[in-house]
Amino acid sequence: MKLTLASLITLLIACYPVKINNQNDNAKTPVAIVIHGGAGTILKANMTPEKEEQYRASLKQALQKGYAVLEKGGTSVEAVLAAITVLEDDPLFNAGKGAVFTYYGEVELDASIMDGSNLQAGAVAGAKTIRNPILAAHAVMTKSPHVMLAGSGAEEFARLQNLAIVPQSYFIDSARYEQHFRRKKAREATPSKHGTVGAVALDRFGNIAAGTSTGGMMDKRWGRIGDSPVIGAGTWAQNKTCGISSTGWGEYFIRLGVAHDISAMMEYGGLSLQEAADSVIMKKLTRLGGTGGVIGLDQQSNITMTFNTAGMYRGYVREGEESRVFLFGRDEEE
Ligand code: ASP
Repeated sequence: MKLTLASLITLLIACYPVKINNQNDNAKTPVAIVIHGGAGTILKANMTPEKEEQYRASLKQALQKGYAVLEKGGTSVEAVLAAITVLEDDPLFNAGKGAVFTYYGEVELDASIMDGSNLQAGAVAGAKTIRNPILAAHAVMTKSPHVMLAGSGAEEFARLQNLAIVPQSYFIDSARYEQHFRRKKAREATPSKHGTVGAVALDRFGNIAAGTSTGGMMDKRWGRIGDSPVIGAGTWAQNKTCGISSTGWGEYFIRLGVAHDISAMMEYGGLSLQEAADSVIMKKLTRLGGTGGVIGLDQQSNITMTFNTAGMYRGYVREGEESRVFLFGRDEEE
């Protein structure tokens, strides 16, 4: 067989290893992770120094767990799962163990996760017996052809995946239960929002992932589902723009498609992550009457923690920097 120069070049091109889509060329991307534990009326005046310390310690622990994964060369998806499971197991936050009660005195959990390297996503909604809903969302993403599973179906799926299933009594934390009955007695008509947890991570390979988990709004009724399990509202990740996890009044976040909107403003409008977050949270959401915030991260390790409420439990760690956690608005933190 005669090998011409042209056929030789074609052969060489065909054999050249194909790079995995969207992976960063730089194998040594500095890793980073940002987390939140919900936004709301978080004021220094309403908190004891002990409580404040507990929140800061819990946030630090979640950051450390997530960061350790990244440092060891783990993926952003693994780091998000590590950070969120710590927060889900912590009774301080409205997710997993510390979830608020519905109108019926139960918990109904929502969670989602997205992988920015391939736009894969998974979510569960209205789950009552899954101990760590973020792990179930991840299983939906990786072990099913679906994006969102709800209610008893999500629970059955989680059971088949050998995830931890717990009785409702696992979630009965005495402080939350008391709060539920106090509110019930006071006949508060409108459900109020109360926190959520989330994480966004950037790994060594330049891949971004984001995840969110919540008990939703206190006293929610009729199978109400918020933004947290809705891809594009509560969670979004796309390597070329950013990863976002939201917290706040879910209905507004769904109506504005907050997490995706921030990404779209970067993609189509050329805005920076901070400009896009400011535009969506401080302008669009605020004008519509919504409250809450987002955390976000881009491929250059730029971080945003933007909210229009008094405070937001939040923190981040970037390679080569100390981890930092905050609870209150800027003036109260400084
Ligand atoms: N976004 C959550 C929901 O609406 C609640 C929160 O983040 O405060 O279900």
